[in-house]
Amino acid sequence: MPPLSNLAVRDIETVLHPYTNLDTHRTIGPIVFERGEGVFLYDSNGKEYIEGLAGLWCTSLGYGNEELVEAAAEQMRRLPFSHMFAGKSHDPGIALAEKLKEIAPCEISKVFFVSSGSEANDTQVKLAWYFNNALGRPNKKKIISRLRGYHGVTVASASLTGLPYNHIDFDLPISNILHTDCPHPYRGMEAGETEEDFATRMADSLDALIQKEGPDTVAAFIAEPVMGAGGVIIPPKTYYEKVKAVLDKYDVLFIDDEVICGFGRLGTMFGAQTMGMQPDTVSVAKALSSAYQPIGAVMVPERMYQAMIDESKKLGTFGHGYTYSGHPVAAAVAVKTLEIYEREDIVGKVNAISPTFQSRLKALGEHPLVGEARGLGMIGALELVADKDTRRAFDPKAGVGAKVTAFAEAEGLIVRALGGDIIALCPPLVISEDEIGELFDRLGRALDKAE
Ligand code: PLP
Repeated sequence: MPPLSNLAVRDIETVLHPYTNLDTHRTIGPIVFERGEGVFLYDSNGKEYIEGLAGLWCTSLGYGNEELVEAAAEQMRRLPFSHMFAGKSHDPGIALAEKLKEIAPCEISKVFFVSSGSEANDTQVKLAWYFNNALGRPNKKKIISRLRGYHGVTVASASLTGLPYNHIDFDLPISNILHTDCPHPYRGMEAGETEEDFATRMADSLDALIQKEGPDTVAAFIAEPVMGAGGVIIPPKTYYEKVKAVLDKYDVLFIDDEVICGFGRLGTMFGAQTMGMQPDTVSVAKALSSAYQPIGAVMVPERMYQAMIDESKKLGTFGHGYTYSGHPVAAAVAVKTLEIYEREDIVGKVNAISPTFQSRLKALGEHPLVGEARGLGMIGALELVADKDTRRAFDPKAGVGAKVTAFAEAEGLIVRALGGDIIALCPPLVISEDEIGELFDRLGRALDKAE
């Protein structure tokens, strides 16, 4: 291994890294990035990488977008901070709420701003509780998410997340949060079952859980249209239709977590539209600002808003909000981002380039290490297996996914191994056909080396 750079040594001495093997990091050290341009990142040695995961599923417009830089700079000069507490407001916040309301995938009344996806989903949990208290239903409090769902890492949102390493030794999940089955066709479909049968079985399992808990105790169900960090899992056709029928039967709110799928990723403005979801409320973050500023939002329907007004009549203040709820610089950048998506027809662009992306992805399904290549729009994954026929997973200790990501980095490509051996791809939406070709050439060479 080459000696660590001075920056790497300083990093190891000072930074506690999120989502990192803290033990091996002490010897491997970080890649230190210096700048980005388009879909490319450059490290402190000048090495070029294609950003195959759009940062963390978020830099949809790529790097070096001067319009976004200018929108931030202009807002910083004019009003770098203002807040929305006690009825205060500012024009970028109002403009962003108006735009979100206009494009939302369901009927929305009001928009509540946050700074991240985790804060958005924490807010969803609190609003579901508050809503049911307002309606005089104090027992209707349980929230159901799915095994392998990802909804963030704050105490409530990490509890919603259905991944073991977000719970173990953090003493999570908290009470009132339950997990139902993961609709993962590759791992979950039984022999002889059709997609439709599988969707029915998954919806029946949700129904049975609600029955077991007691419908009067279940407040909400949360789902990502396509599950991202749990392994890029695409539920079977008709799944959401069937889930919606179950939720309606028991008057359970449907929370749509669009933190990854929102803003064009699947080839429609929101993932709900591609997947046939009919949610009541929506969480967004990440691509809302193309990650140039930390901002997210919760979109609230009229009936929840009305119940909240009743609470204010009773209690006075609505006691929830962050210092940075609707931060004006973040809001101005998000307004500009949405303007660019519309002007550049980002949805049309995804539909134009995704066939190339998907066909190059699916071609890697033939590779001896790949059990399944799956994807939709501009998101995809390769599930690596020890045996393609039996779908047997690799021993986690073999670290095959980590090897592929390390070889990919050596080739000049950033990808992420989820849950060990699922290689995720989610490039910036501004990627060109040639760059897609280069991305898959580099990934193919990395897979060959890891074989
Ligand atoms: N929801 C989904 C679907 C996500 O993918 C993520 C992050 O990856 C989150 C919520 C949490 O967002 P954040 O990391 O901004 O808190």
